[in-house]
Amino acid sequence: MHLSPHFTLAELTKSQTAIRRGIRNVPNAGQINNLKRLAKGILEPLREHFGRPFSPSSGFRCQALNVAIGSKSTSQHTYGEAVDFELPGIPNRDVAEWIRDHLDFDQLILEFYNPEVASSGWVHVSLKEKDNRRQVLTINHNGVWAGLGEAI
Ligand SMILES: [Zn+2]
Repeated sequence: MHLSPHFTLAELTKSQTAIRRGIRNVPNAGQINNLKRLAKGILEPLREHFGRPFSPSSGFRCQALNVAIGSKSTSQHTYGEAVDFELPGIPNRDVAEWIRDHLDFDQLILEFYNPEVASSGWVHVSLKEKDNRRQVLTINHNGVWAGLGEAI
């Protein structure tokens, strides 16, 4: 099932942890709608702008999967409202800056990015139906900062 022209439900629900632990990571209709909003509002514009195919590393997580990977129970991944990804060959900070400057989002997090290693870390983005906060954060082993990496 396609969520948008270039992204499928299968890739927005895939999880090695779910497979290993036998967790059935299946979203309901409302969560699928949220995933469609993410695919159309975030992933497709990125593919179009940067011109290269990519597949998210983590999208929807049912509660059992979310617990299994040690994530907070309030994670927007459990609503199908958040996605983690990298674009091959493009520094994650550049991707995050483009999202910040061009797209609507609820929360944009540059996670575990090391400026000396362009491919390090990943980008987390969430998008809600309304009341998106446009909050931009950087997270690494040292803590959490507002903005994109200024404190690293
Ligand atoms: Zn995430």
